[in-house]
Amino acid sequence: MKIREITVVSGKGGTGKTSITAALAASAPGGLALCDADVDAPDLEILLHPEPREEHAFIGMDTAGVDSQRCIGCGRCRDVCRFDAIRMEGGKARVDKTFCEGCAACTLVCPVGCIAMEETRQGTWFVGETGFGPMVHARLNPGGENSGMLVQLVRKEARRVAESRGLGTILTDGPPGIACPAISAVTGADTALIITEPTISGEHDLLRVAELCRRFGTKAAVVLNKADLSAQGAERIKEACRKEGLPLLASIPFIPGVVHAVSQARIPLAELEEFLGPTWDRLKGL
Ligand code: SF4
Ligand code: SF4
Repeated sequence: MKIREITVVSGKGGTGKTSITAALAASAPGGLALCDADVDAPDLEILLHPEPREEHAFIGMDTAGVDSQRCIGCGRCRDVCRFDAIRMEGGKARVDKTFCEGCAACTLVCPVGCIAMEETRQGTWFVGETGFGPMVHARLNPGGENSGMLVQLVRKEARRVAESRGLGTILTDGPPGIACPAISAVTGADTALIITEPTISGEHDLLRVAELCRRFGTKAAVVLNKADLSAQGAERIKEACRKEGLPLLASIPFIPGVVHAVSQARIPLAELEEFLGPTWDRLKGL
């Protein structure tokens, strides 16, 4: 069975990506699996309230650990660390895992071999059940590394869950921006739905994320949110879409009720339905 993954992205935060993702989930015509790939700041769960079913550790890259019994306090590891991750405390080296980048340089200079790289829990991932389908989501520890790897993991697990339940669609809330986590979220997805707003930075970020999609061979389409905040800005976004060959699937005005709904942890479906109504049909036609 072919599973289609639609990833909702934005070049920047604050465009309304997650509220639109939640409203799309609530208005989906068939069964779907949900995935929150915005692992640095996951908030889809605030609106969809998944009932927890599974919880797993996310083991990312190895970090350095010191056997303080054997440490002779020479300080060579501290001197070689380019990330200031090692402090000397009470004559012994101590690694601050938040700063460790896993380069292993310290293990090479220790004269007594008392530093080793060790598995480190970088976060947690979950499978939950929402009113609209199963949801895979995750939380990176503060300062946790490998968010791109965690994005890949939650997407893979969402696909596993979709396959096991016979669900034909995965709706993924992607991270904002165009850095590693966004690349991880867009690569291999069938369609990227880019949420933007009628500002100069909205246009700039739309073009950046559209270029990212092009490079990774992912079809892209656009939803213009808060469209009535600037008629001139909206026209520029429409023109950019025309030039770039990006289908503009929906244009949504600024709706104060959306802000109110989100502040109450409620899906703004009643507020957005009128504007998002044909979006699923249009996505199917891409
Ligand atoms: S592994 Fe690299 S970053 Fe981590 S403490 Fe050692 S030298 Fe520093
Ligand atoms: S290099 Fe080894 S012995 Fe020296 S301070 Fe670091 S951990 Fe201790």
